[in-house]
Amino acid sequence: MSHFSYRNGVLHAEQVSLQSLAQQFGSPLYVYSKAALVENFSAYADACRAAQRSDADALVCYSVKSNSNLAVLNLLGRLGSGFDIVSGGELLRVIAAGGDPRRVIFSGVGKGRDEMRLALEHDILCFNVESIPEVARLNEVAGEMGKRARISLRVNPNVDAKTHPYISTGLKENKFGVAYEDALGCYRTAAALPNIDVVGIDCHIGSQLLDDAPLLEALDKIIDMVDALEAEGIPIHHLDIGGGIGITYDDEQPVPVGDYLGRVFARVDAWRQKKHAGRPIKVMFEPGRSIVGNAGVLLSQVQYLKHGETKNFAVVDAAMNDLMRPAMYEAWHEVKTVLENRGDARVYDVVGPVCESGDWLARGRDLAIAEGDLLVLLSAGAYGMTMASNYNTRGRAAEVLVDGDQAHLIRERENPADLFALERIVE
Ligand SMILES: *Cc1c(COP(=O)(O)O)cnc(C)c1O
Repeated sequence: MSHFSYRNGVLHAEQVSLQSLAQQFGSPLYVYSKAALVENFSAYADACRAAQRSDADALVCYSVKSNSNLAVLNLLGRLGSGFDIVSGGELLRVIAAGGDPRRVIFSGVGKGRDEMRLALEHDILCFNVESIPEVARLNEVAGEMGKRARISLRVNPNVDAKTHPYISTGLKENKFGVAYEDALGCYRTAAALPNIDVVGIDCHIGSQLLDDAPLLEALDKIIDMVDALEAEGIPIHHLDIGGGIGITYDDEQPVPVGDYLGRVFARVDAWRQKKHAGRPIKVMFEPGRSIVGNAGVLLSQVQYLKHGETKNFAVVDAAMNDLMRPAMYEAWHEVKTVLENRGDARVYDVVGPVCESGDWLARGRDLAIAEGDLLVLLSAGAYGMTMASNYNTRGRAAEVLVDGDQAHLIRERENPADLFALERIVE
């Protein structure tokens, strides 16, 4: 996290001190580094360029659900990113952020009619369809609108991503996609529908993968499927290998993005030469975490210290409603104090004010802290703010994007009155 470092003993985001950000914007506060976002996206774009892929034959579709702030989407859109969405709401965000709907792919197992209609109105690039009933419904909706829907089928390659069960999606028992064995039959059904254009194939086997071997195994199975489909007269124009490269939270050493993409392109090229008659096929990626995860931190202030017989608690003003990952996946986030080297450390559980024992952010950490001190949870840029809730009627945190020595407020802190503004008392 080189864009978050100590300068003269104070933790900075790029050139802005987190202490000054807390003074200006309050806490809890999500702070993102623009330079980190650009650098992380560029790792994908540069690897596409290195493999001599133009815009026409490689597309990075940023996974909006990992961090959907309009400023983040706008920045990535200007860098040339497409977008992977999982709801109509996310499509509206992409459009509001100035993103190009024709570079949008729509994933998810439960797309509703309204969402399909909205996506068709905006002529999105592709629906990543996850079941036969879904493609049948999409065919109907497109027919009603006098349109055709481009689809890719999410195939479940039954590869073990060896990641946390909650973020593993490519195994038989998962709710996602169609089983590999059923894929051919599903494609035949889809290709016969009058308002459907089969254009691609996709998979997404899980998240926070440190090694690319399972992804490459999935790619091989997808490539075999393309051959089988083309033998049946169903041509495939793009293959989409999903997201999933992990990041360093603690001491993990994920495969560098450039190396992974290089291997993907090398395999695709070798296959094209040998079996695909040199015909082009567009390669797509859907990264989320690896672009935003380490580009953001959650800044928080210590409210109280409770020194107990068996445990010490640091009660901070951020909570599980702000950063859900520890409570949900027992995820580990590094904790740093904003002021460096504050004397003798004790072991603390860092917890929030929410009334749940599951409301913890970090456990058993050596921290030298006092009431009122500021600390940050690192690597909070992905699945942080997007998973935040209003549990305990807590307004969601503000968000700031730092660019060099400038800090931009990109989302205001929620006002509690807004949280119940849609509710009605019954007389
Ligand atoms: C969540 C998701 C992604 C992004 O995964 P990361 O691990 O954040 O890269 C990509 N594709 C689909 C279908 C997803 O559900």
